[in-house]
Amino acid sequence: MVERTETESRKLLGRLRNAMANNVAGQARLDKITHLIADSMGTEVCSVYLFRDEETLELCATEGLEAEAVHQTRMRLGEGLVGRVARTGTIVNTPNAPAEKGFRYMAETGEERYSSFLGVPIQRLGEKLGVLVVQSRDARVYTADEVYGLEVVAMVIAEMTELGAFVGEGAALSARHQQPVLFRGTTGQEGAAEGHVWLHEPRVVVANPIADDPHRELERLHEAIEQLRVGVDEMLEMSRTGDSEQLQVLETYRMFANSKGWMRRMEEDISRGLSAEAAVEKEQSQARVRMSQVTDSYLRERLSDLDDLSNRLLRILTGQGRETGAEMPPDPILVARNVGPAELLEYGRSLRGIVLEEGAVGSHAAIVARALAIPLLVHAGRITTEALNGDHIMVDSDQGVAHLRPDDNVVTAFRDKIAMQADAQERYASIRNKPATTECGETIEMLMNAGLMADLPSLEGSGAEGVGLFRTELQFLIRNQMPKRTELAELYSRVLDSAHGKRVVFRTLDIGSDKVLPYMKPNDEPNPALGWRAIRVGLDKPGVMRMQLQALIRGANGRPLSIMFPFIAQFEEYRAARAEVDKTIAREERLGHVLPETLEVGAMLETPSMVFAPEAFFEEVEFLSIGGNDLKQFFFAADRENERVRRRYDTLNVSFLSLIERIVERCARTGTRLSFCGEDAGRPIEALCLAAIGIRSLSMRPASIGPVKSLLRRSNLEEVRDVITVARENGEQSVRPAVMELLRNRAAGRPVGNAPGTTSTS
Ligand code: PEP
Ligand code: MG
Repeated sequence: MVERTETESRKLLGRLRNAMANNVAGQARLDKITHLIADSMGTEVCSVYLFRDEETLELCATEGLEAEAVHQTRMRLGEGLVGRVARTGTIVNTPNAPAEKGFRYMAETGEERYSSFLGVPIQRLGEKLGVLVVQSRDARVYTADEVYGLEVVAMVIAEMTELGAFVGEGAALSARHQQPVLFRGTTGQEGAAEGHVWLHEPRVVVANPIADDPHRELERLHEAIEQLRVGVDEMLEMSRTGDSEQLQVLETYRMFANSKGWMRRMEEDISRGLSAEAAVEKEQSQARVRMSQVTDSYLRERLSDLDDLSNRLLRILTGQGRETGAEMPPDPILVARNVGPAELLEYGRSLRGIVLEEGAVGSHAAIVARALAIPLLVHAGRITTEALNGDHIMVDSDQGVAHLRPDDNVVTAFRDKIAMQADAQERYASIRNKPATTECGETIEMLMNAGLMADLPSLEGSGAEGVGLFRTELQFLIRNQMPKRTELAELYSRVLDSAHGKRVVFRTLDIGSDKVLPYMKPNDEPNPALGWRAIRVGLDKPGVMRMQLQALIRGANGRPLSIMFPFIAQFEEYRAARAEVDKTIAREERLGHVLPETLEVGAMLETPSMVFAPEAFFEEVEFLSIGGNDLKQFFFAADRENERVRRRYDTLNVSFLSLIERIVERCARTGTRLSFCGEDAGRPIEALCLAAIGIRSLSMRPASIGPVKSLLRRSNLEEVRDVITVARENGEQSVRPAVMELLRNRAAGRPVGNAPGTTSTS
């Protein structure tokens, strides 16, 4: 019986292929297909519905329903049984369609006569393209074999759609990958860029989804799988000694490569007439649909491993490598599902922008994109399935959107925006070498944050007076194995060389929480942000900390050195860390290494506990830097990585400003050097308010220095302070509205009030 159905299935695919070979218009092909399917399955009706836009399906061809309904009947996603198949990506098989929940009768099609209904999604690599339906008068239940057979046909239709076989009149039959598409995502690094798509993983094209000789195709599949297994085993062998996460991924690859279920399904697909590559793609497509449905992150990762493996298998079968011979456009915007930090560094500054389907704001790739100051958009829908190499694309990461193949209106508006930004950049360049001195005569030190060598050129270009925060963990994060002491010493030395005598504050390793080293066993902690991280790891496992301290001392090689400890939550932790520095200095001296010309040791202030630390703490540290990102998340108990809450509390909330003021006062009393290095230092309004409450040193992304300095130079801190005082007295939750009003009034040349107890503006 199965044999017979398989033969039927193959016969049908053979007939479909002949229909495709005829040089006829897309509509005629679709008509022929519906006729052949109905004939082969013995059903009265066969219809193809294709998406007209993301939300609407259109009847594009039918055998059995009223011909007039073609290109007239439309339904929304989720509407009726067809809409249900499209929305859920699952099959509907019922002997009595009218009795089904959600059934919707389309009068113009004359479908009331038909009782049974079988609908399967037409999808390619998880992208929904339409629905294929067969219907019969009798209350027939389609067998599992028939369902499977129809799925195989739907797969072929999907491939044909991708290859443009049905292009014709009407929007639903328009050629794919030509329309403008807007993708919404999340900002990973602000900025706007125009360019052309460069696909990190070019799509594999399956030109022949149907094959005559199943034995030959099975052989091809088995050979390819064998090659894949050998490849995975070799990779495993090579990485035995290093990187545990990579090892885990490879183990999963191996598990899948040996999976009988995966193999059996592909063999079955082939026995029904699919070519080996089409069978791989069919399974891959279904895995992608599952991937979009599961929420469990472990399962998602495993499905994504299977997806990678399928890609490898497809490349073996089709002979299409990553190298497609295509030339990278001169203005490349990288489009990828995901990309690793090392790969991104390899592309370097040649990229104009990056758009990722997955990725995360705090990911290592995002860290690199920031270091390279390349606009980055993450979570951008299904862009890798829609974009083609060379497509025109505009990325507006400030607004969290990417316009693929934009129309003329978008192009004009976007270019205006870029031109305005270029004007602003020019203005900032003109004040690059001027101090951030306010109208009231206060000067604020402008420092930059860094973490990679790639950041250092910005020291010159941005006009930064030094590096207020060098995040040393980035060097650890972007590698597959722990860097060696000599490597680190060389790197730190190069950093100091590039700084040309400007002060660089090296923060010791801040790992844990969102920063997980790929080669360290992940800690299964219920609450990693409050867990074993940063200085806690350093003090509990001092080996790495000592190694890093030695590398810093050797890198300084007789030059001044500034070391800062992250995440100090109580005085004793600072003392213990400081003692490690002293011991290391003594050891280095014994070993005959040159000691730094001067050494200053400080701490980050990023837990509320330290605001209330003993006075001796403020006296002992040589400097403090407020880590506003962490301090704020702990103060408001709102996870900085959680999209739902991270913007909920304003930095200009009166309570938070009072906390910062308290730090300023304590540092003033003890004469402790203080700066602020969280992200808020780089936001002009926030920076202005921080300056108004007494912060005199700000460390930020290099790109923020221009905008922040420009606002500070045009402001009077006394006025801002008065506005803050009044807002407080009035019981405001945040001082932002009052400060914004002050800035608007100043910009408009309107008078501003400055006496506490009155309203801030006239
Ligand atoms: C901070 O917490 O504000 C900070 C600068 O450190 P990081 O963002 O690296 O945690
Ligand atoms: Mg921090």
